[in-house]
Amino acid sequence: MRTIDDLRVAGQRVFVRADLNVPLSGDTITDDGRIRAAVPTISRLAEAGARVLVASHLGRPKGAPDPAYSLAPVARRLGELLGQDVAFATDTVGPSARETVAGLGEGQVALLENLRFNPGETSKDDAERAAFAEELATLADLYVGDGFGAVHRKHASVYDLPQRLPHAAGGLIATEVGVLRQLTDEVKRPYAVVLGGAKVSDKLGVIEHLLTRADRILIGGGMAYTFLKAQGHEVGSSLLQEDQLDTVRGYLDRARELGVEFVLPVDVVAAPGFPDLVAKTPTSPTTVSVDDFPADLMGLDIGPRSCELYVSKLADAATVFWNGPMGVFEHPDYAEGTRAVAQGLLDSSAFTVVGGGDSAAAVRQLKFDENAFGHISTGGGASLEYLEGKTLPGLAALED
Ligand code: ADP
Ligand code: MG
Repeated sequence: MRTIDDLRVAGQRVFVRADLNVPLSGDTITDDGRIRAAVPTISRLAEAGARVLVASHLGRPKGAPDPAYSLAPVARRLGELLGQDVAFATDTVGPSARETVAGLGEGQVALLENLRFNPGETSKDDAERAAFAEELATLADLYVGDGFGAVHRKHASVYDLPQRLPHAAGGLIATEVGVLRQLTDEVKRPYAVVLGGAKVSDKLGVIEHLLTRADRILIGGGMAYTFLKAQGHEVGSSLLQEDQLDTVRGYLDRARELGVEFVLPVDVVAAPGFPDLVAKTPTSPTTVSVDDFPADLMGLDIGPRSCELYVSKLADAATVFWNGPMGVFEHPDYAEGTRAVAQGLLDSSAFTVVGGGDSAAAVRQLKFDENAFGHISTGGGASLEYLEGKTLPGLAALED
């Protein structure tokens, strides 16, 4: 893969496909991690004299302008982090975009409005995507792919556009791919994987792949209850994916055959209902053993004995990959499991990789020092698909 060092960017219009898909509350950015991750490549290009045109998606608007998903607040924050003005185009390929690009001087930076305001961006129809990519291509001379969080999407700006312009990978993508390679080609053992988050079905592919690669798989979060149920435990009113029980049973059997250690919670923190994540009103959590799960309670975090168990399984690992919070960490009553596992990663001497948007947000929300981890990936779905061994369209398009 070519990198930006292989491009002559001075004076050129460089289209940077970044991933600035940050969580917003109104027009306040609640976690700017992805913007900060995009800054190094953008500033390097600007310092080299490029006219930098940054583009990204935000959320899931329905192929038409929607003020709730405007990138305007992101343009302001990007400007603060870069320490220079960022011009903002109020459309993607319309008059504002053309005027903004024409006004860019060497070393200046502009941001386009949300790419998903155009239906061509995410279209499944190759011709519709190509048509949008053609329009985007007229705005720039060179393409830099740096939106790691979107490389698993066959979208116009990720897949079709780099085929139309001389292209290279930005620094963020180069780093992410380098780290993920250490988890696939040359992993140091013991290799422990911690998986959590909401749904098992989101993570089936990666579990399947990891069964033949990891030494230990630790399961927490909402997906733990499908595993516990598959083992014959009651799980009250916890999140349960009945339709996945057979698949999960199959994984547990294969793990036994392959000698992979599967670790499930031994106790959980439960409550009668799902907590209010906006008001964050205090609840009345109780710790229950998985052998004695009351029918009217919902498991919302792993319990203290499970935390101890999980930390002990991380202590002597040489490599740890963690994706998915252990509980509903957004509420303080159910954040302890996630906190304990994050601390367990830090206390182990392993090379630690955190993947997943919510997992990375949890690390920051719980005030951990991000730099203390080996690597925090900006791409949840992308890093999982990479680990599954899938071909990622946005990386394939940068290859040749
Ligand atoms: P990531 O973005 O890191 O890949 P996911 O999106 O898979 O993680 O899952 C994160 C979500 O899982 C969080 O919003 C969290 O509240 C939720 N979650 C964790 N534990 C539970 C649980 N026991 N019940 C319901 N939801 C849970
Ligand atoms: Mg998520």
